[in-house]
Amino acid sequence: MVQEVISTEEDKRLIQNAYRQLLRSIKSNMDDTDRKNIRMAYELAVEAHSTQRRKSGEPYILHPIAVARICAEEIGLGPTAIVAALLHDVVEDTDVTLHELQDKFGARITKMVDGLTKLDGAYNSDSPQAENFKKVLSTLVEDVRIVLIKMADRLHNMRTLGAMPPHKQLKIAAETSYIYAPLAHRLGLYAFRTEFLDLCMKITDSEDYFSIAKKLQETKKAREEYISSFIDPLKEQLEEIGIKYRIFGRAKSIYSIWNKLKNKQVPFEEIYDLFAVRIILDVEPKKEKLYCWQVYSVVTDVHKPITERLKDWITTPKANGYESLHTTVVGPGGRFVEVQIRTERMDEIAERGFAAHWKYKGVNNSDDVFERWLDSVREILEDPEGSPVEFVDSFKSNSLFNEEVYVYTPRGDMRVLPKGATALDFAFSIHSDVGYHCTAIKIDNQIVPMGRLLKNGDRIEVVTSNNQKPSEGWLKLVTTGKAKAKIRSAMKEERRRKGELGREALERKFKNLRIQSNDDAMETLVKHFGLTSHVDLYYAIAMNTISVVDIFRTFKAEQGKLKLIEEPLPKEEPKRDAPIKRPRKDTTQAPRLTINGEPGEQYDYHLATCCNPVQGDKIFAYLTANAGLKIHRINCPNATNLMVNYGYRIMKADWSNDSPQTNFVTKLKITGIDDGPGVIERLTSQLSLMGLNIRSMNIAGKEGFFESELSLVVANTDQLNQATRALKNLSNISTVTRIE
Ligand code: MN
Repeated sequence: MVQEVISTEEDKRLIQNAYRQLLRSIKSNMDDTDRKNIRMAYELAVEAHSTQRRKSGEPYILHPIAVARICAEEIGLGPTAIVAALLHDVVEDTDVTLHELQDKFGARITKMVDGLTKLDGAYNSDSPQAENFKKVLSTLVEDVRIVLIKMADRLHNMRTLGAMPPHKQLKIAAETSYIYAPLAHRLGLYAFRTEFLDLCMKITDSEDYFSIAKKLQETKKAREEYISSFIDPLKEQLEEIGIKYRIFGRAKSIYSIWNKLKNKQVPFEEIYDLFAVRIILDVEPKKEKLYCWQVYSVVTDVHKPITERLKDWITTPKANGYESLHTTVVGPGGRFVEVQIRTERMDEIAERGFAAHWKYKGVNNSDDVFERWLDSVREILEDPEGSPVEFVDSFKSNSLFNEEVYVYTPRGDMRVLPKGATALDFAFSIHSDVGYHCTAIKIDNQIVPMGRLLKNGDRIEVVTSNNQKPSEGWLKLVTTGKAKAKIRSAMKEERRRKGELGREALERKFKNLRIQSNDDAMETLVKHFGLTSHVDLYYAIAMNTISVVDIFRTFKAEQGKLKLIEEPLPKEEPKRDAPIKRPRKDTTQAPRLTINGEPGEQYDYHLATCCNPVQGDKIFAYLTANAGLKIHRINCPNATNLMVNYGYRIMKADWSNDSPQTNFVTKLKITGIDDGPGVIERLTSQLSLMGLNIRSMNIAGKEGFFESELSLVVANTDQLNQATRALKNLSNISTVTRIE
């Protein structure tokens, strides 16, 4: 592809403007060397990217400049990271080499750019996302800034995703919600997480996204009026305290509103907590706590508090470093309003997490939450067992991303464990030896099952005995990565120990047969039995699941080597990853599709039953291991998992325009007020009035409410939407939702 050099005056002006804005956005102190390095990085990047344009048509260099600016302005990173951000794509996409960077910028920056290049490489390849996730975390423990720059890179790409073809947008959105949103949360980059999730939703559920955005816009004025009626009476009294403060109402994100709509099954109009009020105090570090509670007392004097909704993350910050005082009060008109009270320092940590954390290191004495977290990430990374997919599962369920419980040792020392951790997890968290030898656990002086979930405030005592050993079953009793890793490695050790007998038995036999290389012979057997390691073989022999007698019925020694007595037929490996073109059997009834832009009739495809796509839904095709192609909706609950782990099996699919009238089965969930048999009558007659067939229907009433699930036969999404609207308009019906 021939690309012209960027030379128009317009382009030059754009680039220089962007650079000037970048320089203005840098808040940290810089010396002459820093300024020189940034200038040098900028000039090198401009030159290196000079022939490239982004999909949107703008000069490519605007991207690294924008990423550097996000690093400076939104994360608050310093000059080193800004230089690395400016250079983050040069090694990947241009002729510039790491050696060149080493000469000009030194080892530290080169290492960062190298890290970023490797992460990029991971994304462009088709390797499963679980492996990529692991790579991101390894980079994280090496130098957090690399991952922070990568976040900025991903954020800018997400903000400018519009120019990409839709299937690429989907893949990037899936990766973002799988890796970056949870990581942003865990690193305390709340603003990033919120924006990631909003941008993902805009792609995967665009209709809902724009409809909520529109409603927020329409209700903005009324909301602002309400917020002032809430804030005004507070202001007077806050002035009396005599400190600098800011107070404002803040709308919640579209994604979080959407979640509420889905979870509570109520219409937009009935969601009251669309916003929270935040009070930010500018006070000296020593008096933070004092003033926060003083402001709390003012707020609750003016508006009545709901006491059980008080959350004090100032005394005990969240594991990701978040500090704030939250309370819910009854505002004008009886509406519940959440009020968040914090200082400027806490606010910066809340918005920028990890990055801001370094700046304030040592300000509050809470021990270093991030260091502790990085340690646990390291521990999991060092666990040699398990596949990357297991790794991600353990990482996510291990709740390194989630909330935590606070429990106590018998001496009253507090320990923080992830929510979902069990009594046995606690034993392992004290020390791996305590875990290994744990025979019983007492909580508040009562013996409890080892798998008992921990609750806040539990006082836990572990009883140990030197005769105790971990067993396979323990893996089911723990949830933390640390305990799992320790149990697995103990099990492995146990297998190895028991396997010694098996190894000795084999070696004796080899010696008798004058086998020359034990290693080669073992390898032959490992392969023959489809095992993964020698240890597995020794163990199987020791446990007699493979008998030595049988082995030497199948194998013989020949010139000092182990040979199979009967040569098996060569097995042909079925090719799995190339789509098998096998025409559909009946082409008359099925909906017509195009797959990767070609007529779909040449493939054997079926509609997925997990999400039941209907003509008109946005869809993609997934190549299964043996059942041809499955067609899923892009917002199928399984879609993210499929896209991130098996991206190479995803194909683009669209409905053909010339599809004949086809029937699709779709499921609706309907809730409402149960006014007797009239309900079923109303629902069914409305549907038959519309000429729609009901495949099945069940209905359950409870305390005046009913819930019904019905399978409906429709021709396309238009018909489905019409039906949904019509049902919603019937009397006493509260919600009608499509279910998966
Ligand atoms: Mn980039």
